Amino acid sequence: MIKLENVFVNYENKEVLKNINFEIDSCKNISIIGPNGCGKTTLLKTMCNLLDFKGNVFFKGKNIKQYKVKELAKEIGMLSQITQMYFNYKVFDIVMMGRYIHNNNKFSFVDTNQDIKKVEEALKIVGIYNIKDRDIDTLSGGQMQRVFLAKIIAQDPNIILLDEPTNHLDLSYQIELINFLKKWSKEHNKMIIGVLHDINLAMLLTDNIMLLNNGKIEEFGNIKEILKTDKINQIYNLDIKKYMIEILKKWENM
Ligand code: ADP
Repeated sequence: MIKLENVFVNYENKEVLKNINFEIDSCKNISIIGPNGCGKTTLLKTMCNLLDFKGNVFFKGKNIKQYKVKELAKEIGMLSQITQMYFNYKVFDIVMMGRYIHNNNKFSFVDTNQDIKKVEEALKIVGIYNIKDRDIDTLSGGQMQRVFLAKIIAQDPNIILLDEPTNHLDLSYQIELINFLKKWSKEHNKMIIGVLHDINLAMLLTDNIMLLNNGKIEEFGNIKEILKTDKINQIYNLDIKKYMIEILKKWENM
């Protein structure tokens, strides 16, 4: 479904992605993990054609540079961590923004009954229909993230890229969001490619991980197999399994 071929990305003179090659079949979710600054967000942005890059990215066999913006947005959408909103939009209007790409009129957007129905459905799915008329800047972090989740559901792309969407959320909502995305992607045949810095959340979301380090793919495959190697420990400079078990023992002894 998505394929990257000899992809390189530079920021000014700094090479950030160094010859990335991989292919993922449809409906196989993956998590991308790796230390801060290794290029995870850059990789996601490359996959939605938001950056200049060398090499090729194919989606459904077609080069993404040949997709029109709206056409690509029907295929790939991104759910990021909450960023500050400067405008006083209503919840309903933000979720409706997810529908604009489905409109073929170049010069104006008129909400059709179908768009309104889709937005209402998305608001109900994530449990925020009751706050649809609230201004976005009056919401808590968890409520705000639900609004952006509803926007992605209304947009209805085939691939959802997650860029650390659980940052700034409390633990129970982090788990709820990941479990929701996992179930929802399975039920609707969507693919999720998620950057999550918490390895436990990455394990909760997917069985397959891509381990990125210094702009290169170090490992890509089943998490159990990757954890058996020492690569992840070397990259994070920590015996991760030992650390997790030590924490677990503390909980068990409480
Ligand atoms: P990660 O998501 O793994 O933390 P990023 O992809 O955000 O890493 O960044 C990779 C590297 O590129 C980092 O060193 C970061 O400082 C740098 N970088 C990211 N965005 C820019 C930019 N717009 N201009 C210059 N350097 C950038």
